[in-house]
Amino acid sequence: MGKKAQQPLLLLLCLSGLVRCSAAMVFWTAVVEISYVNNLNETVDKYCECGVYGRNSLVQKASGIVTLPRGDPKGCGSDPVYSRNSSSPPWIALVKRGNCTFSEKINAAKRQGAAAVVVYNVDGSGNSTTHMAHSEAEEIVAIMVGNAQGAEIARLVMNGTDVQMLIDVGSPHGPWMDTYWLYFLSIAFFIVTAASIAYFVFISANRLYSLNRLRRNERRLKSEAKKAIGRLQVRTIKRGDEETTSESHVCAVCIESYKAGDVVTILTCDHFFHKACIEPWLLEKRTCPMCKCDILKALGVEDETKSISSESPPDVTVITVTGGEHLYEVPLTNPGSSDPERQEHHYDNSAFEGDSQAVRG
Ligand SMILES: [Zn+2]
Ligand SMILES: [Zn+2]
Repeated sequence: MGKKAQQPLLLLLCLSGLVRCSAAMVFWTAVVEISYVNNLNETVDKYCECGVYGRNSLVQKASGIVTLPRGDPKGCGSDPVYSRNSSSPPWIALVKRGNCTFSEKINAAKRQGAAAVVVYNVDGSGNSTTHMAHSEAEEIVAIMVGNAQGAEIARLVMNGTDVQMLIDVGSPHGPWMDTYWLYFLSIAFFIVTAASIAYFVFISANRLYSLNRLRRNERRLKSEAKKAIGRLQVRTIKRGDEETTSESHVCAVCIESYKAGDVVTILTCDHFFHKACIEPWLLEKRTCPMCKCDILKALGVEDETKSISSESPPDVTVITVTGGEHLYEVPLTNPGSSDPERQEHHYDNSAFEGDSQAVRG
């Protein structure tokens, strides 16, 4: 039971650990939209989700006129790097990767009041981007775009075109969104589910099996009990017997007084009851209704379950003995029987002692 409770807890712990460690690897894509008027006097709008927000960047919108550094396109070096400042209309610095750290480039633009910094990748890297780390330049929008896109915008700006840029938040990307991780997670989920199902099936089968065994045992015990009850002394009450005259003699099971012809069963504790009353009682309760003596135990049912079951039919023969006015049905027990109480009944019966020869003869 304890194990069952631990399983989901363990799973939860694993998952939360996984989420926490992968949260550091999450990155947000940036939607980059540019618009400018070309030399045919047409407004050109270009839009792509091709930027990636830097690790220490604010993940939010930014817009402005694209501005290049004055000298070095990589935007390193001492101030002032740009010909704009914080009082100019909103502007976005476009710098090339290289020469100095991302933090240096971003801080140089930030100091002069840029709304955002766009870093484009080195020549020959096509459209590829990286997840920039710029721990010393925070509190500003900083994204990276591919070399092809960045160089194209830089060319336009160098030619004197005013390029308006809008940066917007795209979608989050993390390890769990990669196909590999998706496969891994689904396989892990499948394994955990399968293991849990197998565990529950095993538990259920086990329970069913033990329940079946218990039932079988119960049935066997009942049949043993029936056989054992058959060995109890039985007597038929005759007219004029003490039991028929006295009001104090009643069957404790049905609370009725005895009449002539009633068949009674005498238990090992010497209490007697109607045969029809006590037999179902004993099968159910196994004890004498009067003194609670465990009758079936006294008859050795629990201890001799196996030996009794292997014995061929009744090991007891009932003979009818006439003693005085009483008619006794006395079970003839096996002389080797280990039940002392049964032996006692046998020899205590003086009528039996006296008349046995005559009856047998
Ligand atoms: Zn009765
Ligand atoms: Zn009793």
